[in-house]
Amino acid sequence: MSRLGIFGGTFNPPHIGHTRLAEHFVNELSLDRLLVIPTAEPPHKLSTDLASGEDRMNMCMLAFPDALVSTIELARGGKSYTFDTLTEICAQYPYDELFFIVGSDMLLSFDRWYKHEEILDMVTLCAADRQEDSLLKKHGVPEFFEGKRLHISKLAPFEVSSTQIRELIKNNESTDGWLDPAVRAYIDERGLYR
Ligand code: ATP
Repeated sequence: MSRLGIFGGTFNPPHIGHTRLAEHFVNELSLDRLLVIPTAEPPHKLSTDLASGEDRMNMCMLAFPDALVSTIELARGGKSYTFDTLTEICAQYPYDELFFIVGSDMLLSFDRWYKHEEILDMVTLCAADRQEDSLLKKHGVPEFFEGKRLHISKLAPFEVSSTQIRELIKNNESTDGWLDPAVRAYIDERGLYR
């Protein structure tokens, strides 16, 4: 039985906050493999300035060279619900133990996700704080996680978002330290987020 990490996101674009979070869990939980899954249409946010699925896939391959970047949600199209994705992954990897990786913002709103209880029966949810003011410390772990497989890690937050990165690119500013140089080169070459 392999330990399979699953990391979904808009990845518009993928930044160091993403790669750092995923790498951390791969090491801490000794995961055998990591699946990185760019969403088709993100269900939790309004998407202005959304790069194409193909560009986000290519950027993910540059940002996560050791992971398997999956087209599962882009191929399905429409709104990307995690429950549907995990159902497909369970069928594809029936003998694997699944670890679903999220930032703390997602954890706190998790009870609004489609079929969140079923999701919690399928995976160990793995989360770390995204912000210095520690959302999890402030609000505590929501009650609906009681009795579920939840792994919260004390990884020091690294505050960056794709929104901030898109803004820097629009203003022709440096993204050093926040974005993999290969991803920045891809963005500049394709003229994304201008
Ligand atoms: P946007 O600014 O466009 O809303 P984002 O930076 O939040 O994007 P997403 O692709 O929506 O990035 O995030 C995918 C996953 O990565 C989510 O679970 C999110 O909580 C997590 N994540 C994003 N940025 C960080 C970060 N800096 N630290 C920890 N987790 C993060």
